[in-house]
Amino acid sequence: MIARFPQPQPVTTDAVIVGAGPVGLFQVFELGLLGLKAEVIDSLRGPGGQCTELYPDKPIYDIPAVPVCTGEELTQRLLEQIAPFSPGLHYGQEVTKVERQPCGRFLVGTSTGTLIDAGVVIIAAGVGAFQPRRLDAEGAADLEGHTLHYRVSDPGAFAGRDLVICGGGDSALDWAVALADKAKSLVLVHRRPEFRAAHATVEKLRHLQAEGRADIMIGNVQALDRADGKLVGVRVLSGDGLTRRVAADQVLVFFGLHPKLGPIAEWGLELERKALKVDTARFETSMPGIYAVGDINTYPGKKKLILSGFHEAALAAFAAKEHLSPGEKVRLQYTTTSPIMHRRLRVDSSSDTAAA
Ligand code: FAD
Repeated sequence: MIARFPQPQPVTTDAVIVGAGPVGLFQVFELGLLGLKAEVIDSLRGPGGQCTELYPDKPIYDIPAVPVCTGEELTQRLLEQIAPFSPGLHYGQEVTKVERQPCGRFLVGTSTGTLIDAGVVIIAAGVGAFQPRRLDAEGAADLEGHTLHYRVSDPGAFAGRDLVICGGGDSALDWAVALADKAKSLVLVHRRPEFRAAHATVEKLRHLQAEGRADIMIGNVQALDRADGKLVGVRVLSGDGLTRRVAADQVLVFFGLHPKLGPIAEWGLELERKALKVDTARFETSMPGIYAVGDINTYPGKKKLILSGFHEAALAAFAAKEHLSPGEKVRLQYTTTSPIMHRRLRVDSSSDTAAA
């Protein structure tokens, strides 16, 4: 007899939003006003897209009615604004598959196995999924995921290990400081003596170095050496032209992130210069039921601004609602006066009733 294992059951929803950047988050709001539920997926570990990944502390001056806010603040305000609609938020997973089912709905799958059955898909993928910049060294690809890591999922895994950390930004130095006392040995390798991390963290690392609890090496990792298949050391080429060997059984690399269009290019949607072609009334792609908003789309006159993405999200929501309820007229209602919208926003309508 063949044993049958239960297949993972997909979550069923109205819309899947690919990308939790500012536009993807605002898309939840616009769908929510029309009574549509959304699940949002992002390959990053949190929301905000470029705003939190590339410029969290920088001021933005062109959000209407908000004279100034940082990328981080904008993200927090958007999360607050969408909270009444309780979207499903799935971070740290890339949308790898979008398939149209015979019934016209879509099956959306992610790199971690999440499956969602959705009536529409709205792609708000910006400049693509952010991926770690990889170490370009002999033997690196084979060790990825075992002894070579681009993120820390379990800090305890580095206790008692000979650890090499590569990079000179906040992530590299934060983890060097955090793991120095847990690791058996810790060497931070950076290509130049200056660091891009917060001053206080650089000072902490130098203090650890002075106490012999961590070491700093200036140079580039050339190769990862193995014995019996296991990582035993790292070869570092220094500025003086000499190659030095550092004992290592675990390596962490933080060279920053870069965006990659990735699987979106394989979903059969019409592209123009790595952007999804849409119309400007519905923001629909070449496949009915799949929309694209924000930096990922292109149309005549497109401007890659958060403001433009917000407008696109509003029209895409109306188009999605029409797609999901064919033949039904979708009325424009104002959030100031519509009791239905107040219910959806979970705000008290009694003041309107009193005024009416
Ligand atoms: P993004 O912010 O790029 O978010 C897209 C998200 O989708 C990302 O988080 C990505 O990980 C995710 N994603 C992509 N593919 C997948 C996939 N397959 N699976 C899962 N997740 C995926 N604009 C302004 O209006 N005003 C400014 O002052 C301003 N300043 C800027 C300063 C800098 C330094 C930069 C770089 C940009 C600035 N911008 C500014 C531009 C603005 O940040 C973008 O227009 C905005 O972030 C676009 O939002 P988005 O949601 O479309 O995409």
